[in-house]
Amino acid sequence: MSTPDLVVGIDLGTTNSSIAVVKDGGVTVIPVEGQPSMPSAVGLDPAGRLVIGRAAKNQSVSAPENTLLSIKRLMGTDQTVLLGGKSYRPEEISALILGELKRAAEAHLGRPVTHAVITVPAFFNERQRQATQDAGSLAGLEVLRIINEPTAAALAYGAGSSGNLERETLLVFDLGGGTFDVSLVSVENGVVEVRASHGDTHLGGDDFDLLLAAEGEKRFLEKHPGATLLATTRLRLKAAMELAKIQLSDAPYSAVREEYLTEAGHLDTELARSDYESLIEPLLEKTLDCLQRSLSDAGVTAAQVDKVMLVGGATRTPFIHALLADRLGKEPRHEINPDLIVAMGAAIQGAALAGQPAPAILIDITAHTYSIQAIMTDENKGWGTVLGCVPIVRRGTPLPVRKSESFSTIKDNQKGIDVTVFQGEDILPEGNLEIGKFKFDGLAAVPSGNSVLVEFQIDLNGLLKVTATEKHTGLAKTAVIDTAGHHRLNLDAARTNLAALFDEADSPQPWDKDSDDDGLDFDADSGATTVPLQLVDSKPAAPAGLLAAAKSLRHRAEALLERGVAESDAQDIRARLGEISSAVQSSDWPGLTTQTDQLSDVLFYLED
Ligand code: AMP
Repeated sequence: MSTPDLVVGIDLGTTNSSIAVVKDGGVTVIPVEGQPSMPSAVGLDPAGRLVIGRAAKNQSVSAPENTLLSIKRLMGTDQTVLLGGKSYRPEEISALILGELKRAAEAHLGRPVTHAVITVPAFFNERQRQATQDAGSLAGLEVLRIINEPTAAALAYGAGSSGNLERETLLVFDLGGGTFDVSLVSVENGVVEVRASHGDTHLGGDDFDLLLAAEGEKRFLEKHPGATLLATTRLRLKAAMELAKIQLSDAPYSAVREEYLTEAGHLDTELARSDYESLIEPLLEKTLDCLQRSLSDAGVTAAQVDKVMLVGGATRTPFIHALLADRLGKEPRHEINPDLIVAMGAAIQGAALAGQPAPAILIDITAHTYSIQAIMTDENKGWGTVLGCVPIVRRGTPLPVRKSESFSTIKDNQKGIDVTVFQGEDILPEGNLEIGKFKFDGLAAVPSGNSVLVEFQIDLNGLLKVTATEKHTGLAKTAVIDTAGHHRLNLDAARTNLAALFDEADSPQPWDKDSDDDGLDFDADSGATTVPLQLVDSKPAAPAGLLAAAKSLRHRAEALLERGVAESDAQDIRARLGEISSAVQSSDWPGLTTQTDQLSDVLFYLED
């Protein structure tokens, strides 16, 4: 058999699948209908036509009897499924999904795609692997190899290609929408091997959504006692909660608003990340039990694990990072998109089989942790109360990134705070580099505990935009710091610049007198070099409720598009949704208000 010159890598997932290829020395994830991954869904539309991917997933709520989801769970069994009155084997349905991915790759690459590497969970038995291989053949693919998903993840992180002959032990923690597994992988002499794997085939982000939906329902019923929630209402609620959950990965709070959840009224509530974490903690404890069992089976202690790698969309939850870092004593790696890493690793294996040199996955990541200075109290860690650096963006986070954390004032009527930004991994300011600071004043005269959100936004050029917002008034101030440029600075010029910029800061302020006690307010000179901090026009925070209203309109518009409207109306709606996204991205609140009003009018007429 001659060596194929192109071998694609396919992650055939329970909920989503993706396809990648090594091209021009790099790994490319091939878009399917404009998206990096495709729902693993197959169905028949109302006209009886076969639909695969997003269209099938979209109709799964309205036509569950004509839609097949999660077929992967049946692979390797004798069970069949019904579609349009005919029965099919799981391999046949999986072949349709693989065929769609193959078509997308052929369209993208402009050439036939005939050879593939497909991934399966480490726990798949021989029958399940054979079924996957057969599905590939049915789709017209010669499956050169079936590899384990954790192996693919390890390959994506460069395992086996560094020429390092030392044995390395990697832990792959994979938490997706519906399944979880954790595997211990060893790499020696370029050979990657799964040594132990445990998991739960019915645990994932969907379970988190269900817990949140139950919480949302409880809150709704507290406000609207006696309201009845239909099954479709619960689905809407779950979808809204999933969005809120995703936002909580980057922000400490998320507003959830669903207009007319039932006839009784709207759902309008705010979720705090801490509430969410308490809800899911029991489920995460289960994942840690599995982790412990994998370690014991592989005969490895936590300290012997060299790298921890995250796979699956749900691992973007910061609480999971924190639990793993705590349990294993090292920060998990999360540079590579956890949804796509398995397909990328499969593509790397494919390239090796095609005789191509091993590519490196190039990603823009932050080289340092960025934090702000605040008083931290953590009796458990034995610190007591210290003036420390609270990380907002951690080292190794892919760029661009936008993350925020909540802080609170510790004195009554505290009018201002100093936002002092540090670069470095140390918990104490002395061990880090201070890269900028600004005063945020004019806070409301309220008792201590006034919440201030601090958001860090870092773009691909390393420009860090820091915005502090008083939560209950929306008062905001923004500054921009060039994190990339400070090493190249003329320090004297920088100091002069700085002095000019912070003239105001040097004059005594009312809160300076006892600044040591103010929650976020630290003036102490760390002795570190500070680069100029450019104060820019602060953009006001979005008016209360505007973002939630825009989000809810977007849901209504998407639901309407799914139900079907005249093409000209559909185009109009899509154009308006585009305008709304641009307005949100550029914080153009007046523009957003106009756009949401107009879309609301359009929907009003079309929904009737
Ligand atoms: P996967 O099966 O790997 O595609 O993972 C899908 C799951 O990841 C779903 O439950 C999503 O809600 C969840 N997910 C996706 N993005 C995030 C995020 N940023 N934070 C938390 N969960 C997420």
